Amino acid sequence: MRDVAPEPAPARSTWYAEPAKVFDNLYFVGSKFHSSWALKTSQGIILLDTLYTYSSEEEIVGGLKKLKLDPASVKYVIITHAHGDHVGGAKLMQDRFHSRLVMGGPDWDWIEKSVNSYPEGKPKRDIEAEDDQKITLGDTTVTIVMTPGHTPGTLSMLFSVKDHGKPLNIAYISGQGFSFPYTVPNFDVYIQSQRKMAAAAARTGATILMSNHSLFDGAITNIKMLAARKPGEPHPYELGADAVARYFKLTEECAQAARLKPPAARP
Ligand SMILES: [Zn+2]
Repeated sequence: MRDVAPEPAPARSTWYAEPAKVFDNLYFVGSKFHSSWALKTSQGIILLDTLYTYSSEEEIVGGLKKLKLDPASVKYVIITHAHGDHVGGAKLMQDRFHSRLVMGGPDWDWIEKSVNSYPEGKPKRDIEAEDDQKITLGDTTVTIVMTPGHTPGTLSMLFSVKDHGKPLNIAYISGQGFSFPYTVPNFDVYIQSQRKMAAAAARTGATILMSNHSLFDGAITNIKMLAARKPGEPHPYELGADAVARYFKLTEECAQAARLKPPAARP
């Protein structure tokens, strides 16, 4: 992980996306490239990822308000890893709404050691995510799957949503990119995580794949398709269990190929 100061905020028109209700109990408050989701429970909200610092106020706080949801009801914020495009709004949620933050231990360590990455202040160390940990709020549970590789503390998640009352299982993945030095042991860790998450997704019968990058899972397109959806049509996010399994096979094979013949340089 590179400890460098964040780039200046790009123009709003390059990142801003409207918030949207996507399932009965899941709301998109992300940007054009990055995901933030509000999972509504009977006892408040579990927020998944927090974007860059520059976009978190308008997209998350503003988005929740636009959707008639109360940002102060966010009890937990689960952050997939401590890169600036996912952890940027964590401090805001912790300071203003006293949300509990959940993140992998090695990524908390990295935040604590960082000198340059948090010019506006660091989130304070809070809950350390563990494998198979259940984050439960009211009637809803998110299960953590530790998937190190992209960063040492990267986590993924499993949870259920409802689509017009029909329960659907989601595998929420994080850290797809090879953002690490190209060594065989690093690729081995990444590959193990793909296999582990594939097995976990299969166990829960996940038919939906969500990514912490809205650009990767087509969130903006899916939201447009949802608006045009006719009665009886499947939800645009629903891929089926086979497609979910193929995704993990693909990421595993890409990593296998890169492990055998690493690209010349890191991105
Ligand atoms: Zn990242």
